[in-house]
Amino acid sequence: MSTSPSDATVRVAAAWYDGQTAASRPVSLSVEDGELLLSGSAGVTRWPLAEVHVSERLGNTPRLLTYAGGGHCEVNDQAGLDRLLAHAGVHRNWLDRLQHSLPWALAAVVLTVAVFAGSYRYLLPWGAEALSMRVPGTVLQKMGDSTLETLDRYMLKPSKLDAARQQRLSEEFARLHPPLDAQLQYRIVYRSSPMGPNAFALPDGTIVMLDELVELTEDDNEILAVLAHERGHVERRHAMRMVLQSSVVGLVLAWYVGDVSGLLATAPAIIMQAKYSRDMEREADIYAEQTMQANGMSPCLLVTILDKMEAAYREKEKKLHPQRETAQEDSTMDYLSSHPATKERAQLLCPRQ
Ligand SMILES: [Zn+2]
Repeated sequence: MSTSPSDATVRVAAAWYDGQTAASRPVSLSVEDGELLLSGSAGVTRWPLAEVHVSERLGNTPRLLTYAGGGHCEVNDQAGLDRLLAHAGVHRNWLDRLQHSLPWALAAVVLTVAVFAGSYRYLLPWGAEALSMRVPGTVLQKMGDSTLETLDRYMLKPSKLDAARQQRLSEEFARLHPPLDAQLQYRIVYRSSPMGPNAFALPDGTIVMLDELVELTEDDNEILAVLAHERGHVERRHAMRMVLQSSVVGLVLAWYVGDVSGLLATAPAIIMQAKYSRDMEREADIYAEQTMQANGMSPCLLVTILDKMEAAYREKEKKLHPQRETAQEDSTMDYLSSHPATKERAQLLCPRQ
């Protein structure tokens, strides 16, 4: 724009604000003997180059060259200024160079993706676990209530189970000694659902027990074993952790804004589709095992009821898909599909069986 091709000296046009008056003066910038020369109609002003601060390059915004006591110069000619500075032996700082170098920019993108992937894989579960233990009871309660409300509206039907058996099971469960200090109050709600024999726990300590599971056995202790397993999920905040992990944005929002309505809205879907990790299932199994032992019952009871659930599940699958050789394990949120293979668990819970 204003570099003069005939002259070896690189010149750049600038507007000089001297800091004394509001008006700007057109000047031509050049460098000579380590000094920045501001040449205008009123003569030449010299600034020691080493004391001139050059602003970062940010898109096409004008660059500012500032000298304490001398005001500043505004330069629109980005390329010209770069040439002038390069000519004077002033190199852009490393950050500026990185921002304008394609390979470095690509490397930065790759690094960012790697950091995010690593965070998602390792940091997020860790953060969700740590945070889940600090979620206040009122939030767990809200989440439990709204989840049950949604489930009742769309997926669950009222229980047809004999009221006396419901009451007996609830009382027996309430009498169980937990292996450790229990942190939450528990309640069992009885429902019915076409999904088949199942039970699942909500974050607030509500355990949904389906008729189809209760009807699988006459032995209440087997039901208690399932309830103890579900209680293990609650005590370890597994559902809460899944909700937090599945909702990274929600996590950040809840953390900063203190508003959990977004989490509440997504919780039912996440809880229903939750496939707990194997580690979580093992934790819940161990909790159930300890509960059974603390109450003089055999952990094998959980294996027995799991076998019955698996058999019922296979039968249902066979009816639905007679042509299939083996049941597919990913069709719905199912007690079995969300849990590790029964054999593996039997070995852990009931090694002599
Ligand atoms: Zn489980």
